[in-house]
Amino acid sequence: MTTSDVLIIGAGAAGLFCAGVCQQLGLKVVLLDHYPKVAEKIRISGGGRSNFTNTLMDASQPHRHFLGENPAFARSALTRYTAQDFVDLMKQHGVAFHEKHKGQLFCDNSSQDLIDVLVKECRVGAKGGEVLHWQPCALQHLSFHDSGESAPHYQAQTDRGAVQTQAVVVATGGLSIPQIGASDLGFRLATQFGLDIVPPRPALVPLTFEPQGWKKFSALSGLSLPVAIKTTQGKQVAAFEEDLLLTHKGLSGPAALQISSYWSPEQDITIDWLPECNLAQELFALKQQSKKLLSNELGAWLPHRLVQAWLDGQPQWHKAIPDTPDKALTVLAESLKRCTLRANGTEGYKKAEVTAGGVNVTELSQQTLESKKQPGLYFIGEVVDITGWLGGYNFQWAWSSAHACAKGLASQLNRL
Ligand SMILES: Cc1cc2nc3c(=O)[nH]c(=O)nc-3n(C[C@H](O)[C@H](O)[C@H](O)COP(=O)(O)OP(=O)(O)OC[C@H]3O[C@@H](n4cnc5c(N)ncnc54)[C@H](O)[C@@H]3O)c2cc1C
Repeated sequence: MTTSDVLIIGAGAAGLFCAGVCQQLGLKVVLLDHYPKVAEKIRISGGGRSNFTNTLMDASQPHRHFLGENPAFARSALTRYTAQDFVDLMKQHGVAFHEKHKGQLFCDNSSQDLIDVLVKECRVGAKGGEVLHWQPCALQHLSFHDSGESAPHYQAQTDRGAVQTQAVVVATGGLSIPQIGASDLGFRLATQFGLDIVPPRPALVPLTFEPQGWKKFSALSGLSLPVAIKTTQGKQVAAFEEDLLLTHKGLSGPAALQISSYWSPEQDITIDWLPECNLAQELFALKQQSKKLLSNELGAWLPHRLVQAWLDGQPQWHKAIPDTPDKALTVLAESLKRCTLRANGTEGYKKAEVTAGGVNVTELSQQTLESKKQPGLYFIGEVVDITGWLGGYNFQWAWSSAHACAKGLASQLNRL
């Protein structure tokens, strides 16, 4: 039987970071993960370079970058361990990084640099803390014992034997990309101990469309262009200006991934294909000056393939611009500026970058991420109903929630 202060289940972003901070605060940690490779999701993240945080994060206003039943829950953890704190850690380890787009920070070399930082942080010996990292190792059974004969504790059966521990941190992430180790264990443990779960769904995921209706666009597969995209969720309007990628099944690229987190089957998605341009005004001005075909004029703003597909089967738009009636120009401008589409689904967990939903934040302490019902049981990272936008926000939630949890544990176990 191994004894520990803390058992952390899941050695991904949140679990690894939490293990490192815990042991630096003097705690003895058993960290287990059932997948053979360490932090595989970090490895594939950000196109292999991990977008590890975002400098534009407003930690005091989480609803600006996060969704969930109550994004404000994240404020406490995000303000106590900020994007700058993680940047400082990367600098301390000499990791080279750069800003790519809208505050997004990526490793210069590869995600391995980030994984190395997290693994090294688990080895910085201090105050008698240590991390026993068991991987691959599956959890078979977890039970809580509070008989009065001994201090309340948990017992875990694992592939590498039994563990007796004072606290358990569930850091098993979401359901996305099951082929590299994602599982529903976190949700099952939450249910076992009576915690409510907001139903999970794929997010930051390509959107699909009914094949017949998508025919016009499927010929444009591979085309990428900047758009403004929006949808509504209840009273909330979600709007992004990002690149959109057309695929043979539907929409992908940053614009589609961002909007997918807010998408529901009953809601249209509205795309402005020319966000920088007042198209109706421009077309009416051109009508006075140009003798060119309307399609040629549109080609100045939009990719030729998109123009062809848009005008296809619309004889009123296949004319020289001076011969095109005002009404036809207005309808054309409107169709490009306010194009409404209704997705019929998503590409699911196989392609989703994250899982929205998860352990209901009403069940957890926002200071420590400990269950309010079940003492000594903590949930951190993506398994919690806090989902970030594309752009490094999900990793920052993993770091901040892990840090808050580690501090809470050290204080609870009298190490602070
Ligand atoms: C393709 C892709 C690219 C991404 N790029 C970015 C990016 O650039 N920036 C960003 O901020 N976010 C990105 N994300 C999201 C980000 O990776 C996650 O939000 C983040 O890793 C969540 O951290 P976590 O520790 O909660 O979960 P994870 O990192 O997923 O870790 C969970 C761990 O738990 C383990 N586990 C699961 N089930 C069990 C079980 N039954 N027993 C034992 N162990 C188990 C898993 O093996 C895994 O190691 C990306 C995601 C994907 C899929």
